[in-house]
Amino acid sequence: MLTQRPRGTNDILPGDASRWRAVESVIHRTAARYGYGEVRTPLFEHTELFQRGVGDDTDIVEKEMYTFLDRGRRSLTLRPEGTAAVVRAYLEGGLAAGSQPVKLYYVSSPMFRYDRPQAGRYRQFHQAGVEVFGTAEPSADAEVIALAVDIFAALGLRGLEVRLNSLGCPACRAAYRDRLRDYFRPRLDQACEDCRRRFDRNPLRLLDCKVDRALAAGAPAMTEHLCDDCTRHFRAVQSYLRALGVRCAIDPGIVRGLDYYTRTVFEVVHPGLGAQSSLCGGGRYDGLVEALGGPPTSAVGFAIGMERLLLALEAEGVTLPKPAGPDVFVAAAGEATRGEAMALTARLRREGLSAETDLCGRSLKAQMKHAGRLGAAFAVVVGEEELARGAVVLRDMARGEQENVEIDRLAERIAAGRVAAGGASDGEERPEA
Ligand code: AMP
Repeated sequence: MLTQRPRGTNDILPGDASRWRAVESVIHRTAARYGYGEVRTPLFEHTELFQRGVGDDTDIVEKEMYTFLDRGRRSLTLRPEGTAAVVRAYLEGGLAAGSQPVKLYYVSSPMFRYDRPQAGRYRQFHQAGVEVFGTAEPSADAEVIALAVDIFAALGLRGLEVRLNSLGCPACRAAYRDRLRDYFRPRLDQACEDCRRRFDRNPLRLLDCKVDRALAAGAPAMTEHLCDDCTRHFRAVQSYLRALGVRCAIDPGIVRGLDYYTRTVFEVVHPGLGAQSSLCGGGRYDGLVEALGGPPTSAVGFAIGMERLLLALEAEGVTLPKPAGPDVFVAAAGEATRGEAMALTARLRREGLSAETDLCGRSLKAQMKHAGRLGAAFAVVVGEEELARGAVVLRDMARGEQENVEIDRLAERIAAGRVAAGGASDGEERPEA
């Protein structure tokens, strides 16, 4: 028990963390290019926020939330998704009062859902997402979809499909719901238990049934029953996407699990991922801000599953930077110079290099072996004799060459060697030469 993590959770160990960082930095850079500002919200919120914001009929609220009473007997819930919390922050932070649109994004935010774990589905997982508030224009829907596609493209992912649908507005959806009920009513005995229960309140959810897809296959499509305004909006989104060079397929089966969507809904899927092929889901949610107590505010956004994104990168064999070894390992030639070795390591770090030294009391020979195992580009040997002359021995680990170098010129010499070899400590930052 003590040495086992809870079911459905994952550790991200250093070997993987560098892959996560590489993906996160692409998302930060892409969001910045599009002018989105980062938002970070608490891991837990008042339970009611998700009940209202995600919807009582959803799988999430019905059976997946981690809800608990705190010591003050308030009902709190670990965040199962990002949108409701970002809407709350938008309202509470006064962003609704400023100039619109407000374009926000988040990266690697932990989410919690009590679901049956399998490959690509976890109880704690991470999402990156964006939310744009204050515009009902179809150009915003198109920008958001293009941003998701750009993130995937910047990472080198291919083989993705963008699937688009419209759920209409409350007006045209009401009539469509009736048509759906007419379609499903005579087939209800073939539907699963959840679907039978949802038939009256939310027949759209029957289109999204994970148990039996065949039943929904012959159902009428929402896109055939949109009102004029929703038809215009849907066409405009597609035309902007064409202008942006984003290819997408219309898929009437995309209804998304959450109650709050209006008009545009979309998913980005990676067929290589099997059952959990959805990398990203999103859409427009023009009624949510008001439902959560704010002024009427149109909004559109998406969430990308970080774990699935990493799985897709792996499935496509996209290589992300692996953790590089340190620029330099500082070895003490003997007991007498251990203190100096530590001080020199600290100095090299201040001078912008990644530097390590021995923390295990190893012999010089064992220290050099350890430097090799760490993948250090250089090793420095701090010996009493050289130290007396203000110098150390510098060893280029790849070439096996050694030279005496003055301590004052050491950082410069190592940095120049690293630049010449085309590498640096973390593959991103390079010390100034
Ligand atoms: P959703 O918030 O359900 O619209 O999901 C958005 C994205 O988050 C999905 O496309 C998945 O990539 C990811 N996702 C959702 N649920 C899970 C889960 N339980 N484990 C891992 N990733 C998930």
